[in-house]
Amino acid sequence: KANTPSLENYWMPFTANRQFKAAPRLLAGAEGMYYTDVDGGKVLDGTAGLWCVNAGHGRRRIAEAVERQLTVMDYAPSFQMGHPVVFDFAEKLAARAPGGPDAKLDRIFFTGSGSESVDTALKIAIAYQRAIGQGTRTRVIGRERGYHGVGFGGISVGGLVNNRRVFPTLPGTDHLRHTHDPERNSFVKGLPAHGAELADDLERLVGLHGAETIAAVIVEPVAGSTGVLLPPKGYLERLRAIADKHGILLIFDEVITGFGRLGTPFAVDYFGVVPDLVTTAKGLTNGSIPMGAVFASRKVHDALMQGPEGQIELFHGYTYSGHPAACAAGLATLEIYEEEGLLTRGAELATHWQDAMHGLKGLPHVIDIRTIGLVVGIELTSREGAVGARAYEIFTDLFKKGLLIRVTGDTIALSPPLIVEREQIDTMASMLSDSIKQ
Ligand code: PMP
Repeated sequence: KANTPSLENYWMPFTANRQFKAAPRLLAGAEGMYYTDVDGGKVLDGTAGLWCVNAGHGRRRIAEAVERQLTVMDYAPSFQMGHPVVFDFAEKLAARAPGGPDAKLDRIFFTGSGSESVDTALKIAIAYQRAIGQGTRTRVIGRERGYHGVGFGGISVGGLVNNRRVFPTLPGTDHLRHTHDPERNSFVKGLPAHGAELADDLERLVGLHGAETIAAVIVEPVAGSTGVLLPPKGYLERLRAIADKHGILLIFDEVITGFGRLGTPFAVDYFGVVPDLVTTAKGLTNGSIPMGAVFASRKVHDALMQGPEGQIELFHGYTYSGHPAACAAGLATLEIYEEEGLLTRGAELATHWQDAMHGLKGLPHVIDIRTIGLVVGIELTSREGAVGARAYEIFTDLFKKGLLIRVTGDTIALSPPLIVEREQIDTMASMLSDSIKQ
């Protein structure tokens, strides 16, 4: 097509393991619930970009706030100084921190992305242990089939085995097992090993390595990028209890679940389990200007700021920590979320969403449908020798017909902007149904 540019000089993200490179989908504009492609076709956004555009596309208020801020002051460092916007944003975020005031998760460290938030949280956890005289605790534990971004910290605790095979990982990292077969979704209901007791695997790792070596365990409350894996009832509580018993910090990676995705402001609020650190990004600025934030408990923050000899135990920070334009975007985003009630809108729509998506049960190849808040994972059977091929065909077909979905292995994932209307949910379900049948 005339509008298709040459790909030669463009190194696409994830080229190594994606089939997309031969035929990229070109998005040229975005407004509300829709993208437009380069030929002017409308594409209903079933994925909020990459789980991030929670308030929908093209929000003028965010654009204007960013422009205003860039005009007044484009950049200022946040080391040894600051600027009013970063303090204002931190204060407003702190007042809305995961778990509400009782959780005391209201100490905030700004980053530039989800991967940076993960690295930051891991470093904070290790530095905290050191600050309280537990300097042997440098090990961090993740979970098989977890996703925590692409920094070395994130791939080390992440559950994507291929990444860990190719790249060196942090020494001493280990992973909770879901099941005896890490390739299978462990959280499907009804199998004997699939309950809260999966969390007991942390005891196995404590036995193996010694609690005195473990700083923290990091999990996504709901694993997103690896196929929408829901925790069994009681799993997160049990993980919290075991971590507490052994002096291990608990980190929730809420890069996806944060900012209303589950129908509550955070997964902390959904599950009522309070970790020590929460990583966020994506919805923080509605996907507009790259930014992440780590929420730390006061306990962690205060210990770090004092240290055993009164020194600060953490040397860490980014050029773009608290970037003025990102903070301006974040402030405008928070205002929109609040004025439009978006952080709890997923709860209002949850029944409609669930009914629509579970209506796809019984279609050919569909083996499991998992919903929570405004997220769905539709797991398909594998085509022999080609994991993900079937889901990818559906992705391609639906994009042509005007619906954007996401594919992770054999699972189709949807997570629309939280402004989605009921009729648009119905449209998504019927388009999915037709395409899966086809
Ligand atoms: N953690 C989780 C749970 C994520 O889903 C992602 C991104 N999908 C990341 C971390 C990494 O975020 P980023 O791509 O902004 O670095």
